[in-house]
Amino acid sequence: MKKLVIASNNEGKIKEIKKVLANLPIEVLFLKDMGLDIDVEEDGLTFEDNAKKKSVEIYKELIKKGENNFIVMSDDSGLEVDYLNGEPGVFSARYAGEHGNDKKNNEKLLLNLSGVSNENRKARFVCQLALISDKNEYRTLRGTVEGYILEEEKGHGGFGYDPLFFYEPLNRSFGELTMEEKNKISHRGVALEKVKEIIKELL
Ligand code: IMP
Repeated sequence: MKKLVIASNNEGKIKEIKKVLANLPIEVLFLKDMGLDIDVEEDGLTFEDNAKKKSVEIYKELIKKGENNFIVMSDDSGLEVDYLNGEPGVFSARYAGEHGNDKKNNEKLLLNLSGVSNENRKARFVCQLALISDKNEYRTLRGTVEGYILEEEKGHGGFGYDPLFFYEPLNRSFGELTMEEKNKISHRGVALEKVKEIIKELL
């Protein structure tokens, strides 16, 4: 069976990806399952640059190891705020300087939007996926979800900017959704639904 190698060791993402792709005739594996321990620097200017860079690096490592029946899949995700010309964008994880400090990132976002009216607080989460097959075929796609940035955090669920991201169709912030509710409509959920067709093409 072909291997789908996911460029992540994040347990949350792993669970979600395995669940969505469970019905495909492909073995879902992670970097550590392949004996790989690579940390690719996310220094691209776009989500696609970063996702592609990760897939290319892992592709090269797998070829070096003599693997020949695989697809690599990488993702890069983040938040784009229209009023801030798409910021924090590719800097979402380190918006306030320190990588992965959600509290500081949220504080900075609120500060940069202080005094900005509701209609100017539109934002979207983006999840970009980049795939490369063993035959060096490249595919990319993105999932998005539209919302707007609240004036204060609401809810304690999710991670990152979730408590500040208001999703109008459910009249709640992402921080107030259960994981199931979020996965159905999130940028990552949308991207993973779309990627099923692409994986079938590359099998
Ligand atoms: P990564 O692509 O998983 O490294 O995510 C980059 C950053 O984007 C995260 O550290 C979060 O700040 C933000 N982000 C991505 N997806 C989400 C989400 O579903 N909720 C909240 N924040 C997110």
